[in-house]
Amino acid sequence: MIVVMQRGASESQIESVIAALNDHGFDVHRSSGSQQTILGAIGVKPAFDQRHLQLLDGVAEVHRVTEPYKFASRAWKPENTVVPVGDLNIGGPEVIVMAGPCSVESEAQIFDSAAQAAASGATVLRGGAFKPRSSPYSFQGLGEAGLVLMRQAADAHNLKVVTELLDTSHVDMICKYADIIQIGARNMQNYSLLRAAGSSGKPILLKRGLSATIEEWLMSAEYILAENNPHVILCERGIRTFETYTRNTLDLSAVPVVHGKSHLPIVVDPSHGVGIRNKITPMALAAVAAGADGLIIEIHPNPSEALSDGPQSLTFEMFSNLMNQARKVAEVVGRSISAPRS
Ligand code: PEP
Ligand code: MN
Repeated sequence: MIVVMQRGASESQIESVIAALNDHGFDVHRSSGSQQTILGAIGVKPAFDQRHLQLLDGVAEVHRVTEPYKFASRAWKPENTVVPVGDLNIGGPEVIVMAGPCSVESEAQIFDSAAQAAASGATVLRGGAFKPRSSPYSFQGLGEAGLVLMRQAADAHNLKVVTELLDTSHVDMICKYADIIQIGARNMQNYSLLRAAGSSGKPILLKRGLSATIEEWLMSAEYILAENNPHVILCERGIRTFETYTRNTLDLSAVPVVHGKSHLPIVVDPSHGVGIRNKITPMALAAVAAGADGLIIEIHPNPSEALSDGPQSLTFEMFSNLMNQARKVAEVVGRSISAPRS
């Protein structure tokens, strides 16, 4: 950490700041010019709140030079993390595609979706059985019955399952059916849920919060990693901005930023990121071009009748076309996407 003193700060002010730094366990390197003194605080204290220093007399600026997260940082682990999910690897050369409806609605809907996901080359089936809806009057999901159907549909097509965990009391139930636990955007900073999901040992798909900075998102990943669970997959799903022509603003710059700051894989959800069916494909292709380790995409046999997120759900034909194009983009950036399967 660097503490820049105000021009003309008195010797007693400088000494008080040095004493405060020492009290917090930092060694101090002092550099005094003719007009200004700069103090270098040496020591890694992720929990230290720099506002303690900003309030002291004579201090002009305080800058952190190390990240507040540790296990999530590339400095801690320089090589990429590859998350194994059975025979799939997330974060390796293959771009993993997760597809399925927003919510599991019926046996026919989830089985048709699973068949189409596999037929287009997706390897993970997505679908919510417990839905975090903005309105308490909207469809809340089928609960455990939905999980049972999703597991059966996935097994019929050799797909893995990713589904959202909404409540700490559901961890065992979700673990029984899912291969990857999704933590939704609205729960990115639900720390008890992060700890409970992390301690299950399952791979966790951690969505970025609606208004979260990348640093806050990585701090949430840190909660899971601190539970001794190294299997964290980050998911960029769009953030709130002043823009109104899209549901959210898909921050694709998060992909290279995360890859620089962290060793964790990152997948992109253009469905929630953009929220409008006819704009999903271009953003999915852009995500692959940007280096995303995976995509998560909402599809539905009949989007106009979907019980949630119909306007952003792709028809099966649109999804199949998206996958054919994404395969070509992946090749350009030295990656691959699984071939269609039955
Ligand atoms: C979802 O995946 O359907 C979902 C609710 O996502 P998010 O948490 O990103 O809004
Ligand atoms: Mn959705």
